[in-house]
This record gives sequence, C-alpha cells and structure tokens, in this order.
Amino acid sequence: MQHISKLPNLEPSIFSVMSTLAHKHNAINLSQGFPNFKGDQKLIDLVSKAMNDGYNHYAPMYGVYKLREAIANKYDLLYGYSYHPDNEITITAGATQAIYAAVTAFVKPNDEVLVFRPAYDCYIPTIELCGAKAVSVQLTYPGYGIDWEEVKQKITSKTKMIIINTPHNPSGTIFSKSDMLQLQDITRDTNIIVLSDEVYEHMVFDGEQHQSICLFPELKARSFITASFGKTFHNTGWKIGYSCAPKYLMDEFVKVHEFSVFSIHHPTQIALAEYLKTPSHYQELSAFFQAKRDLFLSLIKESKFTFTPSKGTYFQALNYSNITNENDYEFAVRLTKDKGIASIPFSGFNVNSLDEKMLRFCFAKTDDTLKRGAEILCNI
Ligand code: PMP
Ligand code: GLN
Repeated sequence: MQHISKLPNLEPSIFSVMSTLAHKHNAINLSQGFPNFKGDQKLIDLVSKAMNDGYNHYAPMYGVYKLREAIANKYDLLYGYSYHPDNEITITAGATQAIYAAVTAFVKPNDEVLVFRPAYDCYIPTIELCGAKAVSVQLTYPGYGIDWEEVKQKITSKTKMIIINTPHNPSGTIFSKSDMLQLQDITRDTNIIVLSDEVYEHMVFDGEQHQSICLFPELKARSFITASFGKTFHNTGWKIGYSCAPKYLMDEFVKVHEFSVFSIHHPTQIALAEYLKTPSHYQELSAFFQAKRDLFLSLIKESKFTFTPSKGTYFQALNYSNITNENDYEFAVRLTKDKGIASIPFSGFNVNSLDEKMLRFCFAKTDDTLKRGAEILCNI
C-alpha cells in the first residue's frame, strides 16, 4: 500500500522532544509550557462534585450554557464588549482544537494565511492540512515588533486569514493598541478573517493592558478569539478552552467542531462555570506570574544570558550569544544533557529556522525549581 503524506516535512513537536529529553536526563524542565504546581483544589473539588452529581454524559455541542454565560460575563467585565452565549461562544478541547476548527472551517486549498514568526507550532501544519499556504512575517530579536509595512506587502487577493498571538509565545511580547489599530486599518474592506490566539490573556505584566481583539469593534466583527482554561487555571492536561466569534463566523466553526469532537468533557464545564463566578480567580494571575518572572530574572541577573523582561505569557526568552556560537537547538540539547536544565530553542518557530541564539524558559514553576534552575544558568 502506498500513500502520500499530507504533511511530509513535519518534525516531532519541539515541546515533546525537549520534555522527553528533560525526563530522560532528570533535568529541570523549563521547556514545555506547563506549571509544576497543583491547580486550585477548589476547582478540582468542583470537577469531582460535578461527576458525583451525574454530569457524565454528552454536554451540549456548543458547551454547557452556564459556562458560555460565565465566559460572556467575563468579557463584559474585562472589556465591556461581549459575545452572546447562545451562538457566539463554543467550548473546545483546548485552544489547539479551537484553532483547528477556525482554520479548517474557512481556509481552502490555495488560500494564503499570514502568520507571524516565531509562531506557535500548531498554526502552520493546520494551514497546510487545508491545502493552503502559510505566508510568514518574521519578528526579530530583541523587540519582536511587527513591521506593518511588510504585512501590507504580503497581503494579496488570496489572503484568507491572519493569525495573531498576544501575549506572544515564545517571545513574551504583547501587541500594543497601535498594533491592533494598524491591523484594523489593514483588514478594513477586505474579506480577511483574523484568528486571535489569546491563551495568555490573563498573564500580562507591569500594568499593561491586554489588547483583546474584542476591544476593537471592526476587528471583533471579523475575528475569532481562541483561549485555554488549561493555561489559565494550571491544568494543561485537562485540554479545555473556548472560542468566541460573531454568530455568522461561529455558525461555520461549529460545523467542524461538531464532527471533530461534537462536545467537550462535561463535568469540567460544570465546574468551570461555577469557578468563573469569582473574577479574582483570573484577575490575580498577572500579579502571581509577574512575581515569578521577577524572581527568575533577579536570580539570573549576574548570568551571561541577556534578556528583555517578558511582558506577558509565562515564558522568558534569554539570549545566549555571550556564551557560545552553537546553534540554539544543539545548545538547548547540551544544556539539558550536560547541565540539567531544559528550555525551548526558538529556531524551529522561525522562518528558515533563523537562529538568533534565543532560548525560551517557562517560569510557571515553584520558587524552589526557579532557584535551582537559575543557579545552573548562573554557572554557564
Ligand atoms: N496557543 C498558544 C500560543 C499556546 O502556547 C498554546 C499552548 N497552551 C496553545 C495555543 C494551545 O492551548 P491548549 O493547550 O489549550 O490546546
Ligand atoms: N503551549 C505549550 C508551550 O508552548 C506546549 C503545548 C504542547 O506541548 N503542545 O510550551
């Protein structure tokens, strides 16, 4: 039997590669983005209560109504712009499935989708599975800002979608209001859909405001938001998230959603609906992670690594050009095997594997882990 691969050039995910290597060499794992501390016991108890209360069969296709209402209330509270729980919010199997459904519902063969690089790893394979072409705009060290003139030049009659991600994984930068306004101008009078990946919405530092796409009415009208409760509430293995969009876009989204998963883990939705009633559960996260960022940076300030403090996400990017000329993948592997600390090299997310000597470290870790990790970094 013969077949032609639909994704012939796909490499294994760098997150699995580095986490497996960290495990094998018993290294401190600051690579894959997940916390090494337990999520809130209250939320775990709510899930278990929902199971005992009998919420163990299929949830509605869009998701549990009370959870959709709770999400709508959250947008109202935080931004003053919301989504209708009836048909503008869908609960998904993590942000990954939300991204898959949004892209697959609209992107056709030979379309173009604009992505900013370094780009989170699921965007491009999903675009390519649709037979479309990812058109890249590279953001570069140290600012990782966007050249909007380049964006304009790369938009063609084939551009179907633009994917943005703020706060940005892996660089830890955030979009400014001016970035969003430029995006709004560039997409005006086009048929371009924007997919705004906002999984790190609740991790924005130094008093900055998260520029959600929903704050910009013209953009909101053409956009999907994708979000992740796994990231927000320290339970990445639960794989639960959601997407928001105007009804006319969501109508198409759910056609893919319905026949890829149909519906999502029911008891967790019941639990999250209750948990979201307390806004401090998400409003306190930025301060919590900012303290971790600050601890990590204060501990490595005498090291040979250089950095710009992360503005959002729970990742800190470090430049190691003062240390070695090795490429970032080789250096990350060597650090894991020989020094006992794992990170994520940037190059795999860049255009033509551009190597700017950048590694990403996850600081969603206990203070003790951060101290042990920093000690190793200071000795390199
Ligand atoms: N987008 C970005 C930028 C991410 O970092 C991640 C990883 N959490 C995802 C999407 C996927 O989220 P989830 O684990 O909820 O599928
Ligand atoms: N989002 C996580 C990260 O950026 C990884 C998720 C995954 O392993 N697919 O590290």
